[in-house]
Amino acid sequence: MLKHFSGCLLSFLFLVSAGAESVRHAPGPRPPGKWCVPLAARLPEVSLAQCQDSALVASGAVSKKGFPLLMREVPATARDARGRPVRILLIGGIHGDEKTASSIVFKWIGKLSAPATLAANEFHWKIAPVVNPDGLLAPKSTRVNANGVDLNRNFPTPNWRVEAPQYWRKVTQSDPRRFPGKAPLSEPESRWVFNQVEQFQPDVIISVHAPFGVLDFDGSGKPPSKFGRLMFNRVGVYPGSLGNYGGLHKDIPVVTIELPNSQQMPGDAEVTRIWQDMLDWVQANISSQVKVAVK
Ligand SMILES: [Zn+2]
Repeated sequence: MLKHFSGCLLSFLFLVSAGAESVRHAPGPRPPGKWCVPLAARLPEVSLAQCQDSALVASGAVSKKGFPLLMREVPATARDARGRPVRILLIGGIHGDEKTASSIVFKWIGKLSAPATLAANEFHWKIAPVVNPDGLLAPKSTRVNANGVDLNRNFPTPNWRVEAPQYWRKVTQSDPRRFPGKAPLSEPESRWVFNQVEQFQPDVIISVHAPFGVLDFDGSGKPPSKFGRLMFNRVGVYPGSLGNYGGLHKDIPVVTIELPNSQQMPGDAEVTRIWQDMLDWVQANISSQVKVAVK
């Protein structure tokens, strides 16, 4: 994606630690409010009460700086006649400076049991609204994590060790906002997302970004044409991106939602429309059948 080429986080590059450090574990449960205080202070239109009501729990994994990677798992409550419920992995904020990408996921968590979106109850959800907490909570929010790595270039796509550094140097002109890391899955946050994909085996992955105001889709199957005002517009395939890894390598459809503004939320009606269109698209296009082959 030829975007965000500005930026001056060069100093981060020198702080990048080599190799894969194993996922550290949080010392123990803390009251959710403690995590929600900094998140609500930083995220547009997410109050402390909304954050607490979202019932996120610590997954056990933590960010580079030790912030818990929070998630909520919601099993299906309605029966799907087609077999086991469709599993949806919904993540927000893999780029820490795209604040609305986290806020809208909090809003959608609040709608999970709303009568207007009952279809949501047919699905089995794993939801993580803030997968790059260190980027979000930095003094000035950053796209990259605390190691200066673009987590959405750190997934183990084929030939990563050649293509990811080459793409970074040649195409992005070594943009520090797009540094892919020194090795695939070098970062605790990307490892955690990777592990969710391995363990949960989602039928579809939905990842929310901003501010390009489009939908993108990777993988086989029918792309969504429109969620709310967002129209399908293929933006490209990048070494190490989640779309590339999940959609093209693992053959799991990956929907990338790019909200139109990274700081200012869409109106409530649009937030609901995107959610409703997303549920309708999943219901019509994603099945829970066991895959016969994985690329
Ligand atoms: Zn992004």
